Amino acid sequence: MTDLPTRRAPPGLGTLFDRALGAYLGLALGDALGATVEFMTPREIAHACAARGGVHRDIVGGGWLKLAPGQVTDDTTMSLALGDALLRGHALGRPGDTALIADAFVAWWRGKPVDCGNTCRRGIARYLRDGSLQGERSEADGGNGALMRNLPVVLATLGDDAAFERVSIAQARVTHHHPHSDAAVLGIGRLLRAQIAGADAATMQGHVDAWVREHPVFRHDPYPGRASAYVVDTVQTVLHAYTRHAGFEDAVVAAVNRGEDADTTGALVGMLAGARCGARALPPRWLSRLQRATLQAVTDQAGALLALATPARAPMRTP
Ligand code: MG
Ligand code: MG
Repeated sequence: MTDLPTRRAPPGLGTLFDRALGAYLGLALGDALGATVEFMTPREIAHACAARGGVHRDIVGGGWLKLAPGQVTDDTTMSLALGDALLRGHALGRPGDTALIADAFVAWWRGKPVDCGNTCRRGIARYLRDGSLQGERSEADGGNGALMRNLPVVLATLGDDAAFERVSIAQARVTHHHPHSDAAVLGIGRLLRAQIAGADAATMQGHVDAWVREHPVFRHDPYPGRASAYVVDTVQTVLHAYTRHAGFEDAVVAAVNRGEDADTTGALVGMLAGARCGARALPPRWLSRLQRATLQAVTDQAGALLALATPARAPMRTP
């Protein structure tokens, strides 16, 4: 028997939505799982989870933020704020308007989020002070806060490269103006676009390798071993877990058990691995722990953002 051709048909709308929702729910699940062990070391995590094989793998809340089980943090809520701004921009005939995005970050901040990183806080305070939509390039802006929230831009601009780049960088620089942050936002965003489009494992590995050749600072093999909020450490940890583990749960568990900025590494691995497996394949025992309002908001927004990218098609249905 001869081999069948391996060229794939473009994904149908249901498949596209399954991957987009998988990414967004994966982000929230990784955030909720990782927040429990944020700022811990791998050794501390192993010790705390000694009764469960030394591995943190259940969504139980707690952590330094004293979260309820299934509660998410700024990684998910700031993404939702950005997504709302994109939807509002579309409704007002101002698609991707950076001032609307900055206003949404202000509203998010005034809503007293459970957590807000220092660089995000500084950027929002600058915007409130002088109305500027980006600060000067700064060595202090190399954190992962712009990267962690860029998923809504990817969904809203699928199929439009120029809009993806423009809005990604604009939203990022409201709070973070650093070349490694810019590179990570675009590089991880492009990987997510390819994964949502249905690229297979070999193709994705090729994309990762090509990007790392272009930006050797993100080299992750051998794994350098840090998972901090410095965007370089974050990206190394995310790519290492995502490329080493084919399964969603295995990939996210590997990332968060590195500790440090575990909610953000968990969120970003969850995003990429969730797009890879699709929403239907996410672990039910984790989904059932996610807070209902988050599940609803993420599901609604994934469909609405995807509809911005595919306006000519039929309305999307949730699976
Ligand atoms: Mg967080
Ligand atoms: Mg974090």
